[in-house]
Amino acid sequence: MKSARRRPLHAYTLTVLTATITRIDRSAVHDGPGVRTVVFFKGCPLRCEWCHSPETQAASPAIALYHERCIGCGSCMAACTNAAVTFVDGRHGVLRSRCRVCGECGDACPSGAREVIGRVVSVDDVMDAIERDVVFYDQSGGGVTASGGEPLLQAPFVEALLKHCRERGIATAVETCGLAPSGALLSVAPWTDLFLFDLKLMDAVRHRRVTGRSNRQILYNLRLLASRHRNVRIRFPLIPGVNDDPENLAATGAFLSSLGVTQLDVLPYHRGGVAKYERLDRQYALLDLAAPSAEEVDGTIAALTRHGLDVRIGGLR
Ligand code: SF4
Ligand code: SF4
Repeated sequence: MKSARRRPLHAYTLTVLTATITRIDRSAVHDGPGVRTVVFFKGCPLRCEWCHSPETQAASPAIALYHERCIGCGSCMAACTNAAVTFVDGRHGVLRSRCRVCGECGDACPSGAREVIGRVVSVDDVMDAIERDVVFYDQSGGGVTASGGEPLLQAPFVEALLKHCRERGIATAVETCGLAPSGALLSVAPWTDLFLFDLKLMDAVRHRRVTGRSNRQILYNLRLLASRHRNVRIRFPLIPGVNDDPENLAATGAFLSSLGVTQLDVLPYHRGGVAKYERLDRQYALLDLAAPSAEEVDGTIAALTRHGLDVRIGGLR
């Protein structure tokens, strides 16, 4: 009798979806209704000058330095086999071109002054964290939010994650800057109960100046999404002197009215992320910018409300 032919082992592929995230926040209250578990995906196509999550911008992990915690013991330098730890005037540092982000220096540090930002996770890893919070969603009307960074840069993973949540009866939200292939946006839409869609500036040239990229694809995606999804909330970061002028507010209101999108959160600028730039050896562009006054926030809300928008004040991402 002819023996059945076996496929060689290498012909089988075991695909495990993974994503790079910075963290999973539990008990969050600013990223959708109720109490939420928020998954922060790593990587963003924009470089908004006011971004308060610069650690999410690069797609790959990096070492963050908490200078205020360093006691100068030198354990990090001894632990690094790649000669990537520096000391200048008693201040620890990193040669980022040499650093492999192995995390050995952080493990050796007795005071938590060095930390790897970014880790690779599977859908099961994230679902394990989510399962621990299900009781809070039930009590508060909350759920899970995919945020970032830009979650749509890792759309196959987000799609799989949100599908799992749906199967468990967990409400889902996606928080997006809108700059992604339209196919990525549409792939997650059927599994998303609520989109939180950033809209920063209507003029393409001004948008490029403060974020590094044109808004053409963002506006296209928003129009597309509004025509296919019934639950889209706009997030408008209010950055004084950048996007709070009458022309931009009028253009924003008119555009949203034309789409039939009525829900908008104004997110007043704050300086909560400034320290994170130093930890990554980066400069913060808006050092002289103050948070908007109550009058400025009220004026912005009034201008947007004139276009029939239902405007709330929310927390800045
Ligand atoms: S992460 Fe690894 S390679 Fe980078 S400085 Fe620390 S020990 Fe060295
Ligand atoms: S191991 Fe930590 S505390 Fe010691 S010098 Fe390095 S960063 Fe500073």
